[in-house]
Amino acid sequence: MLFAIRDDDTSFFTDATELKDAYGNLWDKIPISLGVIPCDVKTYNRGNQLKFFQESEPIPITENSSLIKFLGESIEKGRLEIMLHGYDHQYKINSDLTRIPEFIWRSDLESRVRKGQTILKDALGVNVTSFVPPSNAIGQRGLKAITKARLNLLGVTGTRSLMRVNPVNLGYALTSRLNRSYPYNVREFVGHKQLMCRSLAPRSNWLRLLSDFEECRKKEGVFIVATHYWESKSKHDTEKRTLTDLLLNLIEKANDSGATFVGVEEAFAKEKS
Ligand SMILES: [Zn+2]
Repeated sequence: MLFAIRDDDTSFFTDATELKDAYGNLWDKIPISLGVIPCDVKTYNRGNQLKFFQESEPIPITENSSLIKFLGESIEKGRLEIMLHGYDHQYKINSDLTRIPEFIWRSDLESRVRKGQTILKDALGVNVTSFVPPSNAIGQRGLKAITKARLNLLGVTGTRSLMRVNPVNLGYALTSRLNRSYPYNVREFVGHKQLMCRSLAPRSNWLRLLSDFEECRKKEGVFIVATHYWESKSKHDTEKRTLTDLLLNLIEKANDSGATFVGVEEAFAKEKS
């Protein structure tokens, strides 16, 4: 089994110490794959639907020079891997306060992907190969944009939208289902691959996550746990332990199972089996 950690929302507004606090004890043991927002807008009360608020002015990550220096050094040491996490992560807020994620409501997604790649390339010297959709939501337009940019997707999409992007994807979807590691296999489609992720958040179902892990272990698949550094110290709603504690518990299980800890790039490179 391959095991990877995907952490979202690093941007101009991130302090390097937040990342060190959340993952410093894992450095050099497990690479962390960071979903980076190239041009984030300031966001208040992220976890609270009623108080959630975003400013409208996006600020490029390059303006935070101490973070860029820290990311650059960590990439060099092999501690961090960089993925594209939307462009500005801005939501459209409906009158009933529901939030529509960036890669659903925006129409200029191809140029957003391109601009995002350029910012990360200029700032960190990396050619990103993976995409994490804001709020794990991506529509047909977004799927087209990442396929064009040859970015692999952290997440899985329905066959219908895949077919709308390219009808040949139907055959790929059927083949993927026959893989012995399904649904924890690398799913190959025209121009991109997909990998399922399991979220570890205060409200995620911990027991379900553990049983999914167990299933993935038996099937020798790829297990990707999705976290947010900014809530690592928060307590899980029912387990009453911090998310860091739960993550360490999961890592211990993975270690006991003989899992190989990898960045997502290596996970996507896993051969078909
Ligand atoms: Zn996010």
